This record gives sequence, C-alpha cells and structure tokens, in this order.
Amino acid sequence: MAPDLLTDQSVVRSLLKKIGVSPAKRLGQNFLVDGHVVSMIREHVSSKNPDVIVEIGPGLGALTQALVEVAPSVLAVEIDRRLAKSLETRLGNHANLEVRTCDILQFDFQKEFEGRSVLVFGSLPYRITAPILKHLIRHRRVITDACLITQREVAEKIAHSPGKHGSALGVFVHSYADVAALRRIGKTSFFPVPEVESEYWELSFLAAPRFATEERAFFTVVRTLYGNRRKMVRRALQDILPVDRIHDVLASAQVDGTARGETLSFSELDCLAQLCQPHLIVNVAGSEID
Ligand code: SAM
Repeated sequence: MAPDLLTDQSVVRSLLKKIGVSPAKRLGQNFLVDGHVVSMIREHVSSKNPDVIVEIGPGLGALTQALVEVAPSVLAVEIDRRLAKSLETRLGNHANLEVRTCDILQFDFQKEFEGRSVLVFGSLPYRITAPILKHLIRHRRVITDACLITQREVAEKIAHSPGKHGSALGVFVHSYADVAALRRIGKTSFFPVPEVESEYWELSFLAAPRFATEERAFFTVVRTLYGNRRKMVRRALQDILPVDRIHDVLASAQVDGTARGETLSFSELDCLAQLCQPHLIVNVAGSEID
C-alpha cells in the first residue's frame, strides 16, 4: 500500500480493521489523516538536516514515511505491538528504518545514542505528554531538538511560561529549551477525531539551563508558586519555608511578597529559589514537576 494513502480515512479504517486495532483512548491513538500537515512536517523536519530521528508512537506510519525520506536513520518507537508489526511489514523495505516495540518512557536515549545527536519527532499520546517531556529533558545530552504535536492548550501554556498563562510544566520545559509554536492543527486532521485541538511546535535544548540553583530546590519553589496561583508569594511560600524566614528571603531576593508567583521572571525565580534553598522544610528528593 502506498503510504500516502494513509491520509485517506477509509484506508485507515480498513487497515486498522485488518490488523485488529480499534483505536485506544488510553494510548492516544488518534491518527493523522491530513496530507497538508504531513507535507508541512516533512519540509520542516527536513530543514533541520537530522542525522538520526527517533519517532515517538509512529502508529500506522503516516509520518514515518515522510521521516525516512529526509533522514539517514529513523528509529520508530511504538508501544502497540500490532501497530509496530504492521509498520515493519509495510515500510520494512526502507533500510534506514528500525521499528522498536517499546514504551518510550523506558527508552534509554543516552545509552542508545551516546556521542550522537538525535532529533525527536512525535505526535504524542496526549495523556502522557508531561512524562514524555520530562523524559526528553532528562536525556537532553543526546537530543538537540524535539518537533512535537500536542494538545494546543498544553503547547500554549508552555509557550507562555513563566507567566500568567503559563504552567509549572511550561517553566520546566523553558528552563532547558527554547520553544517555538509552528502550526495549529484542527481536530478533523485526525482519525478518530479527538476532543481537543492540537499544535505542532518545537523545542531546542539550550547548552545550559536558565537557572543556577540546585535543580530540585528550583523546581520545589516553582511548583509551590504555580500550585498556589491564587495566593500571594509570601503566603504560597509558607508551604515550604519557616514563616519567620519568609520576609528576609523575599527582601534579599527583591521580590514583592504581594505579587503572584506566576508573574515572576526566570531570574526572579532563580534568585528566590537560591535564597529559599538553605531553609526549605520539605523533602525535595525527586522533586521536579507534578
Ligand atoms: N504518529 C501517528 C500519527 O500521527 O498518525 C500516531 C500518533 S498517535 C497520536 C500516538 C501513538 O503513540 C499511537 O500509535 C500509540 O499507540 C503510541 N503510544 C502510546 N503510548 C506510547 C508509549 N508509551 N510509547 C510509545 N508509543 C506510544
């Protein structure tokens, strides 16, 4: 079957039937069926001249076909054994493609690609967007960029972080990467049609994070401020600092205690976290993001 037929819904339906898959919400199985979006992504990824692409969740392979045309090596990591097997059968003639049946959250980028640089591509299963982003950040030593389709609301919150319309996850991503929105994608570009709108965006990892504080302390402060968005900073900090320290810490950081945490810039968050760190009354072990 010509892979470009995968943008034809009736072809997608009959292929799914043939391989015995009825799309699972749990796995975010909404397949891209929009030829214009596939072409746009092919062009965008190609402009980055990647050596190695890791595709997260290739599904039926509508995008995998485009990726093998623009990179010397593509590793497609799919959790659903039936989809992986079908993809191997249909695209197995491409010597530069390897299909791996595996949970992307268990995939060790660093071990697999030590000393190389990888571009990650993925139309993500939306329910595990945050764990996947965290996983990519942990493995950023070998990942240069990630070109992703996610729920639009999540992408917008990340783009607006730190800020009033941002999120703790967004601050986390922005701490390690530049972020750029590339294109909005409507619901009808997928089969089955999802409940939410989507967005194609990219993140490019920075050489060094935007903060100097010890990572767990920094994110403990960020999580506390974004988890108490309605509270003034001086009240929110009561969750993690002895009350009698708060005034001095805020004064030294030159942060207005009556402000909301989400209005603080990276340098203010960093300075505040550095001053909080020696006094934290919570266990920060394993603390990153919700
Ligand atoms: N790339 C395909 C497309 O655009 O048509 C499918 C994208 S669909 C939104 C998400 C894909 O991720 C599905 O194929 C699903 O089976 C796969 N998936 C879900 N959880 C996964 C995981 N933990 N690791 C790897 N793949 C996963």
